[in-house]
Amino acid sequence: MVLEGKSVFGGIAIGPISLYHRQDHVVKRTKVEDTAAEISRFEAAREKAKEQLQALYEKALKEVGETNAMIFEVHQMMLDDLDYVESVTNMISSQKINAEYAVATTGDNFANMFAAMDDEYMKARAADVKDISNRLIMVLSGHEAGAMTGEEPVILVADDLAPSETVQLDKSRVLSFVTRHGSTNSHTAILARTMNIPALIGVDYSDDIDGKMGIVDGYKGRFLIDPSEEELEEYRKAQEQDREKQRLLQELKGKENVTLDGKKINLYANIGGVGDVASALQNDAGGIGLFRSEFLYLESETFPTEEEQFNAYRTVAENMAGKKVIIRTLDIGADKQVDYFGLDKEENPAMGYRAIRICLDRKNIFKTQLRAVYRASYYGTISVMFPMITSVEEVREAKAVVDEVKAELDAEGIPYGDVETGIMIETPAAAMISDLLAKEVDFFSVGTNDLTQYTLAIDRQNPKLDRFYNPHHEAILRMLRMIVENGHAGGCWVGICGELGADTELTETFLRMGVDELSVSPSMILRVREKIRNSRSC
Ligand code: PEP
Ligand code: MG
Repeated sequence: MVLEGKSVFGGIAIGPISLYHRQDHVVKRTKVEDTAAEISRFEAAREKAKEQLQALYEKALKEVGETNAMIFEVHQMMLDDLDYVESVTNMISSQKINAEYAVATTGDNFANMFAAMDDEYMKARAADVKDISNRLIMVLSGHEAGAMTGEEPVILVADDLAPSETVQLDKSRVLSFVTRHGSTNSHTAILARTMNIPALIGVDYSDDIDGKMGIVDGYKGRFLIDPSEEELEEYRKAQEQDREKQRLLQELKGKENVTLDGKKINLYANIGGVGDVASALQNDAGGIGLFRSEFLYLESETFPTEEEQFNAYRTVAENMAGKKVIIRTLDIGADKQVDYFGLDKEENPAMGYRAIRICLDRKNIFKTQLRAVYRASYYGTISVMFPMITSVEEVREAKAVVDEVKAELDAEGIPYGDVETGIMIETPAAAMISDLLAKEVDFFSVGTNDLTQYTLAIDRQNPKLDRFYNPHHEAILRMLRMIVENGHAGGCWVGICGELGADTELTETFLRMGVDELSVSPSMILRVREKIRNSRSC
């Protein structure tokens, strides 16, 4: 059987198919007669969930250290909380309902109670209660908590994947993503590119494909289920050819990003966390042009502390050994939602409360991040960059917070490096006033993903609009030209860190515009280098 889809990243994957079980699936209320047996079922699930958490704790302890592993200990303790356990068992016996429903209701009640508290720490426990409740429901309903069972790498098939779910997957075990929904420009698609794995969206599959053999053809947008021996043979050959191409690209390592007529350009990598640095280095990135710091928040169950962030930023700076690392401050909101922020539901989240708007409102969160960035700057070459800027005033307000942070660090005798300040140009407003903004900062990095969304009035999350999402639109190219000219006139260097930066059809155009830097997914660096080396800048 062959299913069609839309490719978000090329390549070929061959392996077993695994359906992703969303943790918050709908729980039905059913009547039970034997409430004692239902309570025993709940008790058994509680034990099993604790065993899973212990295993997760031990795994995390080895991989990410004690501080990050502690959350799994906390979850084990929460499963023993008397109020929680009593609420579930009382509901089962008094209302004669199934354990799944009693757990879901208790989880919601407790989460609402925590969310209403004033204390930030207690507020954040809401997400934990939801998490343990989901885990129990998964066990009760016979699904493993989390995405996958077994150890073998799989083709992961899901209805849709939120960025917060994607970052938590065990990446070494995902050969490819296939989703029913989602758009080419979503962050999940961007993550697939960062991970260098083929990915398809818009695939209409049925649940009976779970466990079958599959082939994902990320070039042609095809998903083969139960392929024949001939098809397997054909795709194994294609995979080998792909590897050969990769090997040829490897020969470009160590070579300069220089055009045929001698113009050089910086070629950096976009990363989402410490785990992506290895692939940036393997692909010979000249620096990190965009560290999407919000992924640290998405991976976490609660606000990452200054120390946790400092450790992450410092590790990246040290591993990049003096090469530039541009940390973008928190860009939460829109499709990147985190429960513990307690943000209201919005009619139009992409146009809503996100990024710098939240940071300037909740300065304690912003300052914690900036302190971590500045402290880490002592260990490498770090730049800071603010997302979703629309006005000069926002930039000044953000810089004032930076000044406060520097004054605090000075007073505490904590050293920090020389940190360049930049902004993302990703709203039409910022593009139109780029002459004024250039006077405020050291550099611009153009976020073409959002700039396209806002300029063409196209929600980048809406798959129906994918065909209208055209970053080659003359409006975008004119804006880019204008941003580069205004940036240079104001003494800023100008880069592109949106996905368009990796579009080799435009590499020559960017060089002619005078773009100084391109920051792309690690997997795209050598392909763009190849293009630069075959291009002319005038
Ligand atoms: C962009 O908007 O182009 C960008 C790089 O930021 P993000 O994709 O994370 O919104
Ligand atoms: Mg953006």
